Amino acid sequence: MEALNSYAAPAAGDHEAPFDIPTDLLIGKAWQEGDSRKRIEVVNPSTGGVLTTIADGTIEDGLACVAAAYDAGPAWAATAPRKRAEILVKCWERMMANAEWLAQLISLENGKSLPDARGEVGYAAEFFRWYAEEAVRINGELSISPAGANRIMVQYQPIGVSLLITPWNFPAAMATRKMAPALAAGCTVILKPATETPLTALAIAQIMLEAGVPAGAVNVINTSNASGVCGAMLHDSRVRKLSFTGSTEVGRILLRQCADQVLSASMELGGNAPFLVLDDADLDAAIEGAMIAKMRNAGEACTAANRFYVQRGIYGAFTAKLVERMGALKVGPGYDAATECGAMINQDAIDKIEMLVADAELRGARVLLGGKTPHGNGYFYPPTVIADIHPDSAILSTEVFGPVAPITPFDDVEEAIRLANATEFGLAAYVFTGDLKKGLAISERIEAGMVALNRGLVSDAAAPFGGVKQSGLGREGSHHGLHEYTEAKYIAVSW
Ligand code: ADP
Repeated sequence: MEALNSYAAPAAGDHEAPFDIPTDLLIGKAWQEGDSRKRIEVVNPSTGGVLTTIADGTIEDGLACVAAAYDAGPAWAATAPRKRAEILVKCWERMMANAEWLAQLISLENGKSLPDARGEVGYAAEFFRWYAEEAVRINGELSISPAGANRIMVQYQPIGVSLLITPWNFPAAMATRKMAPALAAGCTVILKPATETPLTALAIAQIMLEAGVPAGAVNVINTSNASGVCGAMLHDSRVRKLSFTGSTEVGRILLRQCADQVLSASMELGGNAPFLVLDDADLDAAIEGAMIAKMRNAGEACTAANRFYVQRGIYGAFTAKLVERMGALKVGPGYDAATECGAMINQDAIDKIEMLVADAELRGARVLLGGKTPHGNGYFYPPTVIADIHPDSAILSTEVFGPVAPITPFDDVEEAIRLANATEFGLAAYVFTGDLKKGLAISERIEAGMVALNRGLVSDAAAPFGGVKQSGLGREGSHHGLHEYTEAKYIAVSW
């Protein structure tokens, strides 16, 4: 695999310089500045400095993306599945060949540590490989009707032009988790990345073009007018699908808009993951799991452990050890090789974390570690552990999206399950116990789309990722993720 040499990795120590990646709109076959003369500044959260500027797409640009995707649709849908698979494999190869500078790019625009960014690139690229393998296995069904006279034939056809809206916390993985299954299914796409982290998506789009994804099959638009541009696209009858990852609040708005055209919508929304540790758990394994579930991406993940419920017998030991491990993490700029806990995305994120910690403290919580925003450039918040949380504290019902671990003791398991389920969200949950039978029984009763049993990580391209309750609709990853982009065509046959 050869590395792309059309891109220069940012020079060591030069963390503000613009570097050679596309910054315009990808509409059809070419990168375009768009109608708008306005540019959007991309900020490095580790310094607060401006990295570069990107084209600011207008409603007209959005509709041009729709036209390009629509025009490219029939040819892509008719491309042999094997050919689509080969192109997706090339996307995977080229992403992996360019993994290191992509990781640096993610760290620069998102602020996350390099180990986190490297992990994300591998995970993101894997969606191309997984869906290359799925593209040639979109099997239909054939059955005999119960009356015996007819045959029931079912084919899975591409749903059509798909609008994909992604957040800033996993700028590579959220894009590939949507684009790869859509393309595998035979759909053409318009990607609308978050304006905080557009560069990674633009770089991946360029990689996809170089890997052979045909013009118009992938289009990318960044915009400072997300509601106007996305609203116009969602009301264009050529668009047939929305896949969104972001906040529950925006998800509700988009679902309402989808209703106007009865659009199929996949929604990966907010979480409020409980992390249960039972007395019989292996303490070291629970701590390792907690460090991943809480500190991966410095807590900026919808699957992040948001509420720790620890059984009384292990509570003291677990809390002391978590304080020790979180306290030892090196906080710093994402691009610094020694950093273990990177920057938050922006000042709003810091304000929200501060507000949630202050609210918990006001209600009597004890701050065992961290809890104070450091002075200086960049948006940093230290690893923080708080205990004695009053049940009414906002931090127990709100996604903190930062490196803060609130710990609450419990006595019996029924109480823990009740606490775990006392939320409108239901994305991920974590359970640690030495008794597998008990762990499975608890997992079945937890209202979440995903339960990690004695593990700190659920994400896997081969697994169905998604939530129940107000955490979302549909699944991404695995064969389930592909069928978010297909529709069943039933042909009633007599022969
Ligand atoms: P977060 O809280 O993670 O920033 P958001 O839900 O605000 O999540 O944003 C996720 C994505 O949704 C981003 O790409 C953002 O630009 C986009 N977005 C935000 N508001 C709207 C909207 N009204 N219509 C369409 N997209 C939106």
